[in-house]
Amino acid sequence: MNPPNSTPTAATDYHMSPDEFRRQGHATVDWIADYLARVDSLPVASTVPPGMIRSRLPATAPQQGEPFPDLLRDVENILLPGLTHWQSPGFFGFFPANNSGPSILGELLAAGLGVQGMLWTTSPACTELESHVLDWMVDMLDLPARFKSSGAGGGVIQDSASSAVLCALLAARERATGLASNQRGCDGRLVAYTSTQAHSSVEKAVKIAGLGSDHLRQIEVDDRFAMRPERLAERIARDRAAGLTPCFVSATVGTTSSNAMDPIARLGAVCQAERLWLHVDGAMSGTAALCPEFRHIHEGLELADSYAFNPHKWMFTNFDCDCFFVADRAALIRALSILPEYLRNRATESGAVIDYRDWQVPLGRRFRALKLWFVIRHYGVTGLQHHIRRHVELARQFAGWIAESSDFELAAPAPLNLVCFRHRGGDDRNRALLEALNRTGRVFLTHTILDGRFTLRLCVGQTRTEFEHVDRAWRLIRELGSP
Ligand SMILES: *Cc1c(COP(=O)(O)O)cnc(C)c1O
Repeated sequence: MNPPNSTPTAATDYHMSPDEFRRQGHATVDWIADYLARVDSLPVASTVPPGMIRSRLPATAPQQGEPFPDLLRDVENILLPGLTHWQSPGFFGFFPANNSGPSILGELLAAGLGVQGMLWTTSPACTELESHVLDWMVDMLDLPARFKSSGAGGGVIQDSASSAVLCALLAARERATGLASNQRGCDGRLVAYTSTQAHSSVEKAVKIAGLGSDHLRQIEVDDRFAMRPERLAERIARDRAAGLTPCFVSATVGTTSSNAMDPIARLGAVCQAERLWLHVDGAMSGTAALCPEFRHIHEGLELADSYAFNPHKWMFTNFDCDCFFVADRAALIRALSILPEYLRNRATESGAVIDYRDWQVPLGRRFRALKLWFVIRHYGVTGLQHHIRRHVELARQFAGWIAESSDFELAAPAPLNLVCFRHRGGDDRNRALLEALNRTGRVFLTHTILDGRFTLRLCVGQTRTEFEHVDRAWRLIRELGSP
């Protein structure tokens, strides 16, 4: 880096020059390419103790700028040991957060362009590409046409499924309080519903939206861990009888814990009868609907007011990228729109454009559609279907091995890419097995509790996971699971 090191007092420009950027950019892309090529050889989960990474960093920020190669070197030497390698093909934990070449390059380009897409007028291409690609997604997943921007609905990219459920709840709250919440806020009587298996983001949204955690009803599930519609209807009736105002139901297509599928059509019927907002959370599993044979997971979705899924989980698009669709965009916009003088502009006032700042909590927004557009164009629908099918096939193969084994059992149905299983030897045995597996550094799995019992989860969804990696996991499981 030239100016900073030479004569700091005389320097007038500390910026990285375009030539330097080109050189270091190439070196950084090379580093990433090498990283992805060798990531399978690194221990999947980091094992550093708390504080270890900080202890290797200087106590104070550098007074003088440093040469860029030193920065990359420290990523390698200091940070790498403190990373859990989510891009490792041996990563089977939590849920995938996969990426791909086109997504990484789209992200880089978004940073390079550095535009703010809060209003249509602050970068028309940013808004229009986003609306367009989200309409593509409606077709690609065969979602109800009411989620398209050509009608009363539309899609928007949120940072996360958590933000999506929060925005859905805010719109539901607005609708239930007769659009008067700008005066009254939350009136202390609103109630929301989800299942005992729903993601914690629903409870967080309920807290943020001011309903209060005690106004979130966690409805019982059946033996497949899916929400029971009759229990939902009963609970709504009980709350109404108590003078409360039921307003919102969040159903899940593929729960985080066990990939359970709530019965959307039957829950939707309850919501219609009761005039409740139905949000459907398909965070990871929604991607499966790229393939016609898995679209049954969305049966009844035409009854939903909103739907969200995360390309940043299973669709080869690096975090953050959640696709959030609403059937009635006016409801969402009414809940979130604010127009200060300094944002007034002719395009907005004409009503002919979408201003996405009214569809989300923050004002500013990144050009996230770029990476999604790159991914879709690179793979094509056919390429995406190929890899999703492959992941499901690998998971089913693994589930088959578990089902056939005398030592292990399936703990829940495995409809897509997540297999929940346990050793028949009890909780301690399973806890020890999980620790032993992860200690090998060759695979990484996580756990859940199902029916009160410790359960291992193997989730197939990493971009580069192949048969050999699932086979390796199964071999290690058998080896370390025997006494
Ligand atoms: C992962 C997950 C979430 C949270 O996703 P974020 O995008 O990280 O907020 C929500 N719901 C389900 C079902 C999930 O699996």
